This record gives sequence, C-alpha cells and structure tokens, in this order.
Amino acid sequence: MVSGIHRPTKIIVDTQAITENVSQEVARLPKDRELFAVVKANGYGHGAVEAAYSARRGGATGFCVALLDEGIELREAGITEPILILGVVEAMYIELLLEYELSVTAATQEWLEEAQEILMGISAEKQLKIHIKVDTGMGRIGFLSIEETLIAVKTVQEAPMMVFEGIFTHFSTADEIDPAYFMKQETFFNEIIERLPQRPRYIHSENSAAALWHPESPGNMIRFGIAMYGLNPSGRTISETYPLKPALELKTALIQVKELPQGSGIGYGKTYVVASPKEWIGTLPIGYADGWLRHMQGFYVLVNGEKCEIIGRVCMDQCMIRLPGYVPNGTEVTLVGKNGGEVITLQMVADQLSTIHYEVACTFSQRIHREYK
Ligand SMILES: *Cc1c(COP(=O)(O)O)cnc(C)c1O
Repeated sequence: MVSGIHRPTKIIVDTQAITENVSQEVARLPKDRELFAVVKANGYGHGAVEAAYSARRGGATGFCVALLDEGIELREAGITEPILILGVVEAMYIELLLEYELSVTAATQEWLEEAQEILMGISAEKQLKIHIKVDTGMGRIGFLSIEETLIAVKTVQEAPMMVFEGIFTHFSTADEIDPAYFMKQETFFNEIIERLPQRPRYIHSENSAAALWHPESPGNMIRFGIAMYGLNPSGRTISETYPLKPALELKTALIQVKELPQGSGIGYGKTYVVASPKEWIGTLPIGYADGWLRHMQGFYVLVNGEKCEIIGRVCMDQCMIRLPGYVPNGTEVTLVGKNGGEVITLQMVADQLSTIHYEVACTFSQRIHREYK
C-alpha cells in the first residue's frame, strides 16, 4: 500500500518520547537486567525502524519482533544488536535466520527436531540461536511441562549447530489487579529455571505490564513493548508507575468547509441531518481505509482547541465534522494528540471503539504517512 505523502493526514511520532520512556525504565532496572524493545507490527504502528533507533538511544540493547520479515527489516536498516523473533518461524526458513543472525523461538519438540535436520543439511559456519518458550499459562505457544522443557533444552545443547541463547515465558494477567494467576505462572517459571542444567545468556519473562507492576519477576532481560510508546499496558485499570509519554499524534486538515441548511443529509445512508437552521460542516481527508473506523461516528476531533463531532458515517477516505462556525479550509485538525488546551488520547479512541489502545495504534494503516520529530 502506498503512503499518502501528498495530503495533510499524517501520524507524527515523537521519537524523543520513545527514548525517554525507555531510558526511564532502563534507569529503574537492576544492574544485571537488559531491556529489549518490542517493535513488532511496525513498532505498534509507530514505525519499526524509527522506534528501534529511538529505543536504542534510550538504552535498549536488543529488539523483539513477531515475524521473520520484521527481523529482516531491522537488519536491513542497520540494527546490529540481538533480535529475537517471538513468534514461530517455519523451520524451512532457517537459512534466512542464520543469514540475518536472528534469534528464534522454539515452542515444540517437533520444531526443534525438524530444525536440527535442516541444519545438518546446511554447511554454514553460523549457529542458530534458540530461545525456548515455556507456556506457563498463556495457552498460546511453548512447552507445557518441566519435563518437556528440559528435553528441549537438552536437544538444543546437544545439537552442534544450535546455541541455547535464552529461555522465556509470557504472562497473561500482568496488567490486572488480582495477582493470583500471575504468581502461579511466575512460580512455574522459577521452578523451571532452577532445574536448568545450564543458564542461557537470556532469561526473560516481563512484558511492559510485568516490568511496571511486577519488577521482581524472573530474568535478566525484559521485553518492553507498549509502555515504550507511552501507553499504559492496563488501559485505565492500574496507574502508571512513572509518567509515560505518548509518542503518537494523528493530524489532518480541513479540505472543504461549507454552510448547509436545515434538512441537509450528511454521508452514506443520511444518518445525520442538519438540525439547526444552518450548520458549518467540514470534511477531513481520512477514513476507515486509514484505520479511522466507522465506529468513530459520534466521537469528536479537535479544531482550534474545540471539540467537533464526527457526523454521518465515516467513509473509506473521508469523514465529516460539525464546526462551531466558519473555519478556513486548511485549518489543522487533531484526531489524536493535543490541540489548544484539549487532548485526545489513543485510550479515548479505544474506549469509543470498545477495544484497547494497542489495537487502535496497529490499525492505523500504511496509507497514513508517518513523520518523525
Ligand atoms: C508483544 C509481546 C510483548 C510485549 O508486550 P507489551 O504488552 O506490549 O509490553 C512481550 N512478549 C511477547 C511474547 C509478546 O508477544
């Protein structure tokens, strides 16, 4: 998809905010603990490469992605630090993992055996760096028992072309108030670590929520995602340990302004009809194809520090707002971020859409141009 550089709609990313969020967390960490910045899904919509460089300036010493392609993107952009792929990569792509020196997650014995077989057919000098994933209660990927995990560790240790680089798990309720299930997962993971015949370079369990609210969790590395973008992992449930600085703003400008008489219909299905004798209506060049979804109807944007309701259905490329009066064409419009004394946060957009801010940030499509400051 092309990125629309010739229109006023853009995401503005404050790279300094990312750097500060990371450096605040790094400063809190015990001496022996590193921070890997999670930049999967195009850096949660902020731009993977720029997010990675901003996090590195803040003290990140490695990176996590979800897909092989996301790892390759970082390498091609000149990132030389360790990169871990958190998702499962099909074993047939092992040569690419070696070529780009990407660390990979092993989640089943079957995968390890297939990988070993493929590695034996390759005459490469490099070794495949493996992080063993333990499923302590997320129910997603990973080894399910201590016995299975120890067999996996042994398999990796005995394979001449594999390196046991890490072991990790993922918490499913670190962002909740009740710690009971979290503690169950933590106990399970600690038990496994104690039974390891040899400690790998990296042991890790914390996502952003665990890093903020359970900083004593096992490991010597954290996988810091949503919080580096300045967003509270729990949404509104638990308050932030230290102030996080949101990095993303979404702006556009009015492309048509008109005064319409009572009874005029706005948008598909005529779901909004001008009620007053006259109303000033503005059109914005952003729509659901940009990730500004149809359910944003009824919410508002900011123009000159004032809230303006989104009226009528959101179209694919455009949407309409009701203005308090005449405003010139080209006036800046804030969809996410500060404008005058007002602010619209990703959390507020998420509330409107009955979802979480993670999803809102990832939903902003490639069509929106990203600008960095
Ligand atoms: C996405 C992801 C993270 C980062 O989670 P945040 O909540 O964004 O900090 C950490 N670990 C794994 C395995 C993930 O998939």
